[in-house]
Amino acid sequence: MKRIVILFGLAPLLCNMMFAQARPFPGPEVQQIYNRLLPEINKIPAFDHHAHPGFADDPDVDAMAAPPGSSPLRERDSNPELIAAAKALFGYPYNDLSPEHAKWLVEKKAALRKQYPGTQYFDMILDKLNTESSVANRAMMPDYLDAKRFPWVFFVDSFFYPFDNTALRHRNPDQEVYVPLQEKMLHRWMQQEGVTQLPNDLGGYLQFVSKTLEDNQKKGGIAMKFEVAYFRPTHFDDPPREQVESIYNKYRAGGVPSWPEWIAFSDFIFRYLVTEGGRLHLPVHIHSAVGIGDYFNISQSNIMNLESVLRDPRYASTTFVMLHGGFPLEREAIWLASMKNVYMDSSYMELAMYPSEFEHSLKQWLETFPDKVTFGTDSFPFNDVLGAEESYWLGVKSSRQALAAALAEMISMGEVTEAGALKLAHDYLHDTAVGLYNGKVH
Ligand SMILES: [Zn+2]
Repeated sequence: MKRIVILFGLAPLLCNMMFAQARPFPGPEVQQIYNRLLPEINKIPAFDHHAHPGFADDPDVDAMAAPPGSSPLRERDSNPELIAAAKALFGYPYNDLSPEHAKWLVEKKAALRKQYPGTQYFDMILDKLNTESSVANRAMMPDYLDAKRFPWVFFVDSFFYPFDNTALRHRNPDQEVYVPLQEKMLHRWMQQEGVTQLPNDLGGYLQFVSKTLEDNQKKGGIAMKFEVAYFRPTHFDDPPREQVESIYNKYRAGGVPSWPEWIAFSDFIFRYLVTEGGRLHLPVHIHSAVGIGDYFNISQSNIMNLESVLRDPRYASTTFVMLHGGFPLEREAIWLASMKNVYMDSSYMELAMYPSEFEHSLKQWLETFPDKVTFGTDSFPFNDVLGAEESYWLGVKSSRQALAAALAEMISMGEVTEAGALKLAHDYLHDTAVGLYNGKVH
């Protein structure tokens, strides 16, 4: 029945196609179609569903920090596309990023910040990219981002860390970096809520958690974000409340929980937060791909581990956004979007892959659940030279190119009309994501 409804919804896209079977190869006209589509796609104002805007010296850009580790090829400082980004955005006159040339770029940005004071600087960057607004997934919001164009997505993983976290910190060098930052974040939420010490029982702790969500929502937060894949396996059990109450009572005032005890506690808190996301109409964003640092466990954070949560009817009123689309398992992950409350976001995929490869992933998504996929960049300020600005540019340009390429092939192979393809482009770049937030974003 559902299949019929979806087909019916797509009928206008299919109506003026020849009633013929789709072809397995694009025709020779595919490049011309691409050349026609790309300028049209560039004109579509985008909604960037996942990014970390800010300046490199701002510690609130993320709730975590990057530990030392290997970067894949395209994310290295040596990527010459970053020079193209600096040329396009700032008129960078050199063809390398040698220290003396890089100084030019740092000074140019400083001058522009004077010319565009306050919130104007990053608004100007969005204008250059034809991005109407961009999610700011940050620890806290700064005064230099315009809240109307940079809606806040806040982090909630710190609620897993109310106890003595010594054992968790010592698991590996990455956790030595991450866990103290989570403790700091929890402390900031406690300060915000005027909570000076941990509540006496689990019920009190959950009240504090809910109050923080509600207050963050009042401050403009449009969604909550989990980066839990960095901290533990993403298979979540469903421990009974009494078990978790006794863990809370045992460690509230001191003592180091065992790994199974902490896992049970965080299972419970995760499910509580997901449930609250439904009650408060606060979509739940989940990091669902590979991660930075050399100790990120890819098999234990496999997006398919989340299937039991995503397909649990108890969470049907919670909207889930699977950030980075489960990459590199995005071809499997798209099938999770069969759930009406589950969406796939392509941020980071367009940076980890070149457009020539990302195009294939995006095409497979658009051929499967085209109404459930959203655009994002995962822009991040790497350093003073290569900032969020260049990172935005690379993400936006790559995504628009890959989208035009995927749609050109789909048109050429008789899968969709050109008008239908442009509708899909609007949905992916803007309309589908904006539709999740009840008029709060544009
Ligand atoms: Zn991110």
